[in-house]
Amino acid sequence: MILTRWGQSVSIIAGEGLLARERAIKRVDMKLKKLLLAKPRGFCAGVDRAIDVVHMALELFQAPIYVRREIVHNKHVIESLAAKGAVFVDQIDQVPEGAVVIFSAHGVSPEVRARAQAKDLRVIDATCPLVTKVHMEAVRFARERRSIILVGHAGHDEIVGTMGEAPECTQLVSSVEEAEKVQVADPERVAVTTQTTLGVDDTREIIEVLRRRFPKLVSPASDDICYATQNRQSAVKLLAKEAEVILVLGSDNSSNSRRLREVAEMSGARAYLIEDAWKIDPGWFEKVQCVGITAGASAPEHLVQDVVAYFKGLGVEQVEEIESVEERVTFNPPPELARAMTNRQTVE
Ligand code: SF4
Repeated sequence: MILTRWGQSVSIIAGEGLLARERAIKRVDMKLKKLLLAKPRGFCAGVDRAIDVVHMALELFQAPIYVRREIVHNKHVIESLAAKGAVFVDQIDQVPEGAVVIFSAHGVSPEVRARAQAKDLRVIDATCPLVTKVHMEAVRFARERRSIILVGHAGHDEIVGTMGEAPECTQLVSSVEEAEKVQVADPERVAVTTQTTLGVDDTREIIEVLRRRFPKLVSPASDDICYATQNRQSAVKLLAKEAEVILVLGSDNSSNSRRLREVAEMSGARAYLIEDAWKIDPGWFEKVQCVGITAGASAPEHLVQDVVAYFKGLGVEQVEEIESVEERVTFNPPPELARAMTNRQTVE
């Protein structure tokens, strides 16, 4: 048994990992000597909180607990929570009247909140506080009657939620080319916000174009790209100085994991985004001496340890960790959950 940061017992997610050893031992010219592990890697504070929220809701309210969309974008996390009684749905319409529903870490639009209210659902909001910050910025910019340019990837849950705050004055821009073309009502009144999980360098280029085109562009006081995204990208750049191949643990629909693979490649390594150790192709490491390993913010640590065990099984003994920055960020539980916990303690 392990405890969440807020003192509740939860079943372990880590440790349910797969031992994917033998399958991959094909005969290749394996010269691999060293594994380098990025630090920080894997779960960020927002993902930790969102997963704890589901565990705690299951404990407080009993299964089934409904979760709108994937609580975080990782297949292993979703399967583990589903096995414990979480029911993942795409739309609020799929949740029975009066049930408990959790909003995912990526946030939701006001329209989704209104639908949940209309169905009299008991809502627990696991939106990462750093995503909420971006929502609040969009609301403020809209009140100031500015055109909002939201930099991000079309269709991502976070972007859908943020755009929903002020759809009438928000436009999505995904590339430098789109930044060159975007048109606004008044070039003197333009603001920019971004998705939290973008590539730092790509986003800087896009914002430079917007600043050139709209010199009075207003931006948030602090970066929208979150600390976890930035730190994991800095760490993977360090890995790429030595590792010829970098493995990024993460799901294909995880934005920050995909960016990690891109950053690794832009930094000169050959990089692969893999769901777990089963996806490793030994052919990737022919004549390679050093492999780097990192994990997206939604990928559990046991997946990393499975990969380490895989290479140890092939005889690699040297495993080092490169720490670029120490992370100490934690977030409190959502107030509605904290209240439910307090009420239960009072009754007990
Ligand atoms: Fe929050 Fe950043 Fe983690 Fe997303 S990646 S959940 S914004 S801390």
